[in-house]
Parts: sequence; structure tokens; C-alpha cells
Amino acid sequence: MPFASLGLAPELVRALADRNYVAPTPVQARVIPEILAGRDILAGSQTGTGKTAGFTLPLLQKLSVASRTSNSPRALILVPTRELAAQVGDSVRSYGKYLRLRTQVIFGGVGLHPQIEALRRGTDILVATPGRLLDHAQQGHVRLDDIQMLVLDEADRMLDMGFIHDIRRVIRLLPPRRQNLMFSATYSSDIRKLAQGLLHAAAEIDIARRNTAVETVEQHVYPVPKEDKRALLSHLIRAGDWSQVLVFTRTKHGANRLTRQLEEDGIEAAAIHGNKSQAARTRALADFKALRVRALVATEVAARGLDIKELPYVVNFELPNVAEDYVHRIGRTGRAGAKGMALSLVAPDESSLLRDIEKLLGRRIPQARLPDISAPPPRRAPLSRGASGRRLPAAFRRLPPTPARPPARRSPAERTDACTPPAGWRRAVAWAASFALTGRR
Ligand code: AMP
Repeated sequence: MPFASLGLAPELVRALADRNYVAPTPVQARVIPEILAGRDILAGSQTGTGKTAGFTLPLLQKLSVASRTSNSPRALILVPTRELAAQVGDSVRSYGKYLRLRTQVIFGGVGLHPQIEALRRGTDILVATPGRLLDHAQQGHVRLDDIQMLVLDEADRMLDMGFIHDIRRVIRLLPPRRQNLMFSATYSSDIRKLAQGLLHAAAEIDIARRNTAVETVEQHVYPVPKEDKRALLSHLIRAGDWSQVLVFTRTKHGANRLTRQLEEDGIEAAAIHGNKSQAARTRALADFKALRVRALVATEVAARGLDIKELPYVVNFELPNVAEDYVHRIGRTGRAGAKGMALSLVAPDESSLLRDIEKLLGRRIPQARLPDISAPPPRRAPLSRGASGRRLPAAFRRLPPTPARPPARRSPAERTDACTPPAGWRRAVAWAASFALTGRR
């Protein structure tokens, strides 16, 4: 089904053709006609399914035909994180490049003044995180009484992050007559309550089964003691010549430490978490996307929203405390139908977290065998580039089954080219074997 048959304007269809989008994704095919018809929406859709274009395209179309009466925004898109705000802002500008609509992006962690200036110039679409938007609204830098369309993107994440009061305050500043679009990957009772108060006769659209991991992501578990995780990760990256891996840790401190350790192992790495300045977060992400760093080590802040084209690998260096977060983390790979691999390094004290995740997924995650890290990983090959000019990762081949045996003794000279075998490797292998045999989880 071509995009034009959904009733989209030629300017939008042209912008989509520029991005080589051939046909709408299932979520787009369902939500675009409903939004164009003026209905409120409650949509549950897996991450990476194209939901941003799903709400942005009809929103742009509706604003482009309605007349502007003031300099105040007419559409408001609320998102949980700064990265998502920047990303959604880029998408809105890209899809709307042949329309005469203005977009501004507002988020915290950066100076107020450039944003005040931008708001003064006027905008049609405002993409914002709730806290910073309230600051501007309360100080009179922006009026929200012309808003005709409200989008809550990643609503469940916004509630998880404690934004419910800010969201309610923002909603009180909006005119009562407006179209509301709410997107949430999961439906908790809090989400239902928010939806009940916000939406009117909403079309409920549930594209994929909720809380399921995207099917294009191949998932494996490495049972490994905590103290051996770093050596295993370095080995996997170097032996597989991974060019791009997003690694999740549980804490900011842990992310910083692992970044340092990977660099010590000769792997270009950067950390991204809430304690980093916005400039550092933006730089780390840009370097990662441009393949200047191989490993981006992130806390939960990066689990939602981040869209990294063709990201081949996600590693859970530690499992998340909340099972749903696993789904969001691994959803950074396998996006828009691409393949991806998610590997979780699971220590004995994380067995119960793994059990919760498997319960949520409704299936066991297969175990990968520990590789023999005594084999020196190949020297990194010169970068090969695909037709798009993008470096091609040696990805998606299944990890070869390797015998789980302790490493052979190696001289220090031999070791310099390989990962240092972890001190507890013998223990790791024994533990992995017992894990497999007893199903201790
Ligand atoms: P989202 O779920 O909105 O974050 O989108 C995930 C990815 O899918 C983004 O990289 C989009 O650029 C891409 N995408 C969205 N719609 C389409 C489409 N119809 N065809 C191909 N790619 C798409």
C-alpha cells in the first residue's frame, strides 16, 4: 500500500520518497487515517515500529491546511528524554521539509536563552520535555492556548520518570478542544488512568503484542560471574570485530568504570547517562553514530527512544531491575525490520531478574556458550564500507559454539594481542556448566 493511498499530501509523500520509505509500517497504516479523521488515539506499539512518522505525518498535514492565527505553537509533542526530543524534532523537520511549518525543540540541561529567542520567533510545532516546557510556560515565554494537537510519546516512560504532575500541569494550560494522541509501549493502570482523563472516544490501536521483544532481535544469555564480565565483553567485541555495540549498565558509576576499562582494553568507548552534561551526551551519541567510538555504554536513559540506524549489537552488561526495561533496551537494535543481536551477561545474583524477563517474554532466552578467550582475537581489519558509505559490521553471524574450557597458559608477550584471560575463568566455566545443567534460574 503506497503512502499516497493513506490520504497524505504530495509534499509529505515526496519527503518520504527522499528517505526511501516505500510503504507504511503497520502502525502507520493504522494510525494515520484515524488521526487524519480527527480522532483521539491510544496506541500501543513496539519500539522501532515507525510510530514517530505515524503521528508526525498526519499532524504535519493537518497543521499545513489549517490557518495560523498567532505565533504560538499549534501542536505539542511531549517526550521523556532530551535525546528523544532532539530525535523527534529532526524527524518532524525532515518529514515536513516541503511544508512551510516551523518546529522548535525544548529540553532541559542546556541554556534557557537560545530557547527563549527561538520561542519568540514563533513556532507551529513544539517538541518538548515536560519540565523545561513548564519553566518556559510559567515564565511567559510560550503560550499553549493555541494547541490543537497534543502528542504524548513514550507515555509509560514519562510516568516511570515521575513526570505525571508536570504532564497534568501542562495539560491544564491547553485549550479544552484539541486532538490527543497517546503512545505507550506498555499499559499500566496509571497509563489507563491518564488516558481516561485525557482522551475522548479514542481509537485504541494495539499493533504488536505488548511487552514482547521485537522479533527481529536474536537474543542470547551468557552465564558469567560478575568479575569476568569485562573480559568477556572485551573479547566479544574484539574477536567478533564489532563496529558498534550499545552496552547497558545499571548505574552511572558502573557506566563510567566500564567505559574506562574498555578503553584500557583498546576499545574506543564513550558513556552516556544522566550525570553527563547535555553537550557530552550529544557528542557521545554523535561519535557513536558516526562509528568513531565502538562501544556506547549507557544507563537506562538510553533505553528508550534512541534510534541508531542498523545498530547490530546490544549488550546487557547487567540486567535491568525492571523486566520491561529489557524489552526497551534490546529494542535499540532490530529496528525497522533490520536484524539485531542482544546478548546479556548474567551473573549468579541476577538469576531472578532473568527469570522475570523470561516470564515477561513468555519464553526462555537461549544460552550462548562461553567463548574460548585464550584464542587471540584477529587484529582489527581495515574498515570496509557498504554502498551507503557506512562501515559494514561483521554482524549477524551466529556466535560459533566454542568449547567451554579454561584458557591455555600464554606468555605475556602472546597475551598483548589478546584479551587478558580473566582470573576467575575456570570458576566462570564451572559456574556456566552448573547453570546449564541445573537450570538454576
Ligand atoms: P520509530 O519507531 O518512530 O523510532 O522509527 C524507527 C525507525 O524506522 C526510524 O529509523 C525511522 O526512520 C524508520 N521508519 C519509519 N517509518 C518507516 C517506513 N515506512 N519505512 C522504512 N523505515 C521507516
